[in-house]
Amino acid sequence: MKTVFTKEEGVIMSSKQDFGDIKNLIDEFQYLMDTLEIMGDIDFKYFYRVTEDNYIQLAYKMDKSELELCAQYKLRHDNLKENIIFIVKENIEAHLPFIGFPIFQNSVVFTKQEFDSIINVMKDEKLAIIEQAKAYQTPLIDYLRDRKLNPRPTGYNPNSWVAKCPCGGNHQIMVSTLHDEWGCGYCNREGKILELEKWLQEIKIKEDQKRLSKMLKELKEDGKLSKQTSKWWMNRY
Ligand SMILES: [Zn+2]
Repeated sequence: MKTVFTKEEGVIMSSKQDFGDIKNLIDEFQYLMDTLEIMGDIDFKYFYRVTEDNYIQLAYKMDKSELELCAQYKLRHDNLKENIIFIVKENIEAHLPFIGFPIFQNSVVFTKQEFDSIINVMKDEKLAIIEQAKAYQTPLIDYLRDRKLNPRPTGYNPNSWVAKCPCGGNHQIMVSTLHDEWGCGYCNREGKILELEKWLQEIKIKEDQKRLSKMLKELKEDGKLSKQTSKWWMNRY
């Protein structure tokens, strides 16, 4: 009998989530569509599987990689196509901040017009939420902007924003204006404005220490400062 491994629902976002191994079930998946994703660069092939215990599963393949399960939901509608639309939308929504909207290539379930109209409805919903977020700006958002950390609404919900991580790495911190809190999963830091202020101070001190030891090294080895170091010194003090 075709069944699911776990009764959980959702889109897989980390290796901690486990909807079971599908290696021996590949034949039970049916072709759904091809899309271009990640800046329109990579071809994704999607497949779905409907189980006898009334779940729908979505799986994908990138180029020559193996089929991987990416989402699973209980069947919510009588009609198969509506269930497929539901799981496809949930999957797009979950990955939106990281990879953006997919571009239609081919499908046995949707026409290009149908797919594009699903995407357009999602875009309109996002824009409405982003407008709501922009209308509710808080001290944390002002602070992030003031520190040139480029805060911007995600469109997830009216309180959800992201900003540049102050660590200098190429990732974002999540910001919620509900209680004016932020967090970075990579750096394992979180808090309110006060904690952010402290962290920025820490980063500045570390940077200063680096520059100072560079300055001392230059003085010792060359007897003078490089242009870059002098410029920093003049601006700093
Ligand atoms: Zn970070």
